[in-house]
Amino acid sequence: MEQEVLLEVKNLKKYFPMKNFFGAKIGDLKAVDDVSFVIYKGETFGLVGESGCGKSTLGRTILQMLEADSGSVIFKDKDIANLPKDKWKELRSKLQIIFQDPYSALNPNWTVKELIQEPLKNAGMSRKQCDERVRELLKMVNMNEEDMHKFSYEFSGGQRQRIGIARAVASYPEFIFCDEPISALDVSVQAQVVNMLKDLQQELGLTYLFTAHDLSMVHHISDRIGVMYLGSMVELGTSEEVFENPLHPYTKALISAIPIADPELGRKSQRIPIQGELPSPMNAPKGCRFCTRCPYATDKCREERPEFREIRPGHFARCHML
Ligand code: SF4
Repeated sequence: MEQEVLLEVKNLKKYFPMKNFFGAKIGDLKAVDDVSFVIYKGETFGLVGESGCGKSTLGRTILQMLEADSGSVIFKDKDIANLPKDKWKELRSKLQIIFQDPYSALNPNWTVKELIQEPLKNAGMSRKQCDERVRELLKMVNMNEEDMHKFSYEFSGGQRQRIGIARAVASYPEFIFCDEPISALDVSVQAQVVNMLKDLQQELGLTYLFTAHDLSMVHHISDRIGVMYLGSMVELGTSEEVFENPLHPYTKALISAIPIADPELGRKSQRIPIQGELPSPMNAPKGCRFCTRCPYATDKCREERPEFREIRPGHFARCHML
């Protein structure tokens, strides 16, 4: 059965102009550089890559928190990257974000009730409807009704992230960008938050774009995975395919660096080192972006940018060697 596409990203670019000390433009930081992919309804699409590879900028550009330089984001047959502001307002509640840092994402001067009901008020709900919905949402994220009168600083990191999740799902969204939602949490509560996100996805029919530092967690939660390097998508496939049969040298190196708890398996697996530092997205190499760190780089790699091609059914990669 063919899967229904919820969101399609086409040739999306987000550049940040860089200026010198005197204010003159010296170039562009290409945070998202011509990225295209689709996200299917009801799936979790995981994004992985080193810090600074453009994962967060990509998610925020999809949500229109950052204005795209070019390209489109098709959601419900509308190009939301190029929609007039009044039309975008109608769709805004359908696309939400869960932030990485629950400490700074919530206004400490607001009660839990005020925090959760803000998007509901914006959507035009009455006071009574808001109260009922806040109660319902607190129950959904395993918090007590009495908690609604407390301030966010009275809670632990895990509880604050639950408040952030309640706020994100408050206005009946269809798509949520989970921007490293567990990175700032204690290891002991990370699994609880991930399991809650999975349960809510089932219950509410949500679609996620999910990022995390912990690759094993992304593997665990994602149906499909995209690997980003210097603002570009270098591999995309099902979670199983990308982890079991990675194609791109960068993906192979990332996966080989995941710590293995079993010492026997750890001895058998070979670690593939990534050479050197991540180049600046302002001075990305001309050909393959990974050529300065790839052990297999040739002259062709340094001159020509490889195409993003389907190598196996549903499994794409960007490498001349494949
Ligand atoms: Fe390495 Fe060349 Fe493939 Fe780039 S295109 S990943 S440099 S082999």
